[in-house]
Amino acid sequence: MEETEKLQEIISKSSNIVFFGGAGVSTESGIPDFRSVDGLYHQQWEYPPETILSHTFFMRRPEEFYRFYKAKMLCDTAKPNAAHLKLAELERAGKLKAVITQNIDNLHQMAGSGNVLELHGSVYRNYCMKCCTSYDFAYMKAAEGVPQCEKCGGIIKPDVVLYEESLDSKTLNRSVQAISNAEVLIIGGTSLAVYPAASLIDYFTGEYLVVINRDATPRDKMADLVINAPIGQVFSQIRAE
Ligand code: ZN
Repeated sequence: MEETEKLQEIISKSSNIVFFGGAGVSTESGIPDFRSVDGLYHQQWEYPPETILSHTFFMRRPEEFYRFYKAKMLCDTAKPNAAHLKLAELERAGKLKAVITQNIDNLHQMAGSGNVLELHGSVYRNYCMKCCTSYDFAYMKAAEGVPQCEKCGGIIKPDVVLYEESLDSKTLNRSVQAISNAEVLIIGGTSLAVYPAASLIDYFTGEYLVVINRDATPRDKMADLVINAPIGQVFSQIRAE
């Protein structure tokens, strides 16, 4: 494929690449996309997922929140796909400076990436709302009902950005910095519909903007290279050199 060769050329020339990824990066690992037609949002549940996954709902109905969260969000069977693995390889080769992701599933870290900026947090980090003690994924998975702190009995909250909550400012600042300093920005697996995350792209002033997504995105016109294909398939053909 001609586009993939172009991408290879851009990647081979640069040692200052930043990757910005969305749900599409994880769907190829079997993690459902919240916003896709076949995704969670159209499944049967007592409330719409965007209601359940809101700050207000978490505070008022933690039992119901956790019933949904445990059933749909605490997935530990997914494995990194070709995209995750290639990005980790590019980082080890000194070519990729950061992965900025809207996903909360830890798959980039599992693939071996070191500098991962998680805009929407992670299901792998959790903390007691009273005393701030940290709890891991396994503790949350094993807990019955609403997970409670072993030390003080407080409710444990996932370090995930819920609806109505703002993004972590430190992560946001580091992402802005990475994007503004990048020579190549590869946007993958996102329709760029989620704000404010999507507006981060405006900080890019580098050489090459690449968009890899199955469907067209609003940024395609501005991109130097657009590849409409599944991201794992594209990255599996790329060499980290
Ligand atoms: Zn506590």
